[in-house]
Amino acid sequence: MALAKIQEPPHLVADLKSMYLTSMASQWRRLAEEAHGKRQPHAEYLADLVRLEVSGRRERRIQRRIKDARFPMLKTLDAFDFDAQRGLDRDEVLELFGCEFVAQAANVVLVGGVGTGKTHVAIALGMACCQNDYRVRFTTAAELTNMLVEAKSQGRLSRKLEQLARFDVVILDELGYVPFDKQGADLLFGFITRVYERRSLIVTTNLPFANWSEVFLDATAAAAVIDRIVHHATVLKTDGDSYRLRTATSKRRTRRRKETR
Ligand code: ADP
Ligand code: MG
Repeated sequence: MALAKIQEPPHLVADLKSMYLTSMASQWRRLAEEAHGKRQPHAEYLADLVRLEVSGRRERRIQRRIKDARFPMLKTLDAFDFDAQRGLDRDEVLELFGCEFVAQAANVVLVGGVGTGKTHVAIALGMACCQNDYRVRFTTAAELTNMLVEAKSQGRLSRKLEQLARFDVVILDELGYVPFDKQGADLLFGFITRVYERRSLIVTTNLPFANWSEVFLDATAAAAVIDRIVHHATVLKTDGDSYRLRTATSKRRTRRRKETR
């Protein structure tokens, strides 16, 4: 049956746009034509159109959360090969992806060697938090510390801390790769104390807890940080060789095998 030519009611689109109902403004006609074709009751047409706005908004909000998180790259759990990472318990990881730890202001710590998938899992988990409408911010420990040092030197440290505390989840990548000076360590400690039991941290580190004093220069400060981070935390340990190196080697091996055939 030919689609009906629907008359556009005056003001409809302008009114929808003035209320920021953008999906409704762009889709009302298509749905109206379909409704006409299938003799859909008016109330159902309205309900479908509103549903479209709601889901469109949700999708746009998630995209905004992901953008605001400033992930250095996008990673998903689907792309994570658990068979290649025996240190992680799949069920324990999947449980975390329900994101209940955020409501409990609990933390997640990923400890393990370079290239073992810590950042991958941290980003994927951060993205899952975005999907659950949480505010997420990805930084490296070095970047965060620099940000705090700079804010302090400009006399706006407390504003910066306040800004950061608005995120439900802060991902602190690569804690331990670069040692801090005294000021950096103190500022990072201040940040961690501030979010303790109020917000969630996802920390990745190559250092076992016993070595954290190397980063904080001071065993007491290190113990205090560990205490706060680990107190309500799920600690995940990745092990084995670097995934990149391993896949590169196995590709080379496959190539060599092919060549010798
Ligand atoms: P880390 O942060 O532990 O140094 P990354 O998470 O950066 O390691 O991992 C290095 C690279 O290898 C990334 O591109 C990551 O996506 C990939 N990778 C690591 N482990 C896995 C895995 N088990 N399955 C799929 N990709 C992986
Ligand atoms: Mg990493």
